[in-house]
Amino acid sequence: MLPQLHRHAWMDSEIEAFREQVRRYVAAEFSPKLDDWRRQGYIPRETWRPFGDMGFLLPEMEEAYGGAGANLAYQLVVQDELTQAEMPVNIAVHTIASHYILACGTETQKQRWLPKLTNGEMLAAIAMTEPGCGSDLKAIATRARRDGDHYVIDGAKTFITNGHTSNLLIVVARTGEAGARGLSLFVLETENLPGFRVGRLLEKIGMEASDTAELFFDGVRVPADQLLGGIEGEGFKQLMGQLPYERMLIAVPAAATIDRALELTIDYTKQRKAFGGTLFDMQTTRHKLAELATIAHVVRTLVNDCIQRLLDGKLDDEAAYMAKWWCTEQQCRVTDECLQLFGGYGYMAEYPIARMYAASRVQKIYGGANEVLKDLISRKL
Ligand SMILES: Cc1cc2nc3c(=O)[nH]c(=O)nc-3n(C[C@H](O)[C@H](O)[C@H](O)COP(=O)(O)OP(=O)(O)OC[C@H]3O[C@@H](n4cnc5c(N)ncnc54)[C@H](O)[C@@H]3O)c2cc1C
Repeated sequence: MLPQLHRHAWMDSEIEAFREQVRRYVAAEFSPKLDDWRRQGYIPRETWRPFGDMGFLLPEMEEAYGGAGANLAYQLVVQDELTQAEMPVNIAVHTIASHYILACGTETQKQRWLPKLTNGEMLAAIAMTEPGCGSDLKAIATRARRDGDHYVIDGAKTFITNGHTSNLLIVVARTGEAGARGLSLFVLETENLPGFRVGRLLEKIGMEASDTAELFFDGVRVPADQLLGGIEGEGFKQLMGQLPYERMLIAVPAAATIDRALELTIDYTKQRKAFGGTLFDMQTTRHKLAELATIAHVVRTLVNDCIQRLLDGKLDDEAAYMAKWWCTEQQCRVTDECLQLFGGYGYMAEYPIARMYAASRVQKIYGGANEVLKDLISRKL
């Protein structure tokens, strides 16, 4: 899709070669298995070990912790390629969780977990949302009570991506007073952890291959040295510290979905026969596609600009919120309009456009509901 429009200064030949490697790997190793993964509702954790060994899981991780020390654009290129191949959000979540440890962990915590998160030995999840609170994180009720050299965690979480497959979990729990200042993050190794239980795999309207689960904590004892950063009450600050880059892990997939949806739709309308020609021969179709191509270009331009700012250390929170809410709204609009051009076939789950339409919807909800982000932007106006 008009790729020359999307060139940007940060896309040098090295990163393009890396993109090509990731694309080839994903096409060969993941795409053939994706239907099975959708049917079973999860991607097995072992899938990520060779991906990590290839250097694709956390290419930006510091060399001291097993990474290549690449810039963050490399991670965003991985997300772009995974999304274009219809892979769900699992590795975006793994990345977010790993970066909490990188940014906030003690040196011992970093050395303990980051190399395994980088090579894929460990898959990470992050558990914030609870049945009673999502957007309003300050209301988190899961408790962590100090007991000697341990904390004891009680509570429940829901909608947790990688909840079923991960073996490392970052849990947001209340260690103190009500509100933001009473929150702390804990890192749990969840295999055979007494008191920890994974509930049912939740059935979703899209992104079926991504495991989304309920988690239960019933007197889970966690050694005190697994409090992230080692200081109580830092949780909310730690969560907020990574916001601009995390929003890009949503905005980039939005751009990737738009590009892919458009590409599929252009191909389809050029071969679908109707009224003595093809759908593409109709001016209404061509104008619609021209409009969507314009949106794709504007989205990519914004996303690429944000990536450049991120690399320059100049991506402020508000610019990242703008990219998240606006690109995800465009994603939903474009996939809807593309689906329309597929007619009835567009409504059949075996067609990628139908799956992309369904997968797009959640992008406006998680990572900060779009309304919440607009509210945050408005505070700075
Ligand atoms: C597929 C999927 C994967 C997820 N993965 C994870 C995960 O890995 N870890 C995790 O912790 N959570 C995860 N979540 C949860 C997600 O982050 C929450 O669903 C989201 O934060 C919204 O919270 P909520 O569902 O409780 O909705 P609520 O907070 O109840 O909000 C409902 C709606 O009300 C509106 N609204 C809320 N607050 C405001 C406001 N201040 N101003 C204006 N309007 C507002 C918005 O439209 C919002 O969509 C996932 C969710 C889904 C669906």
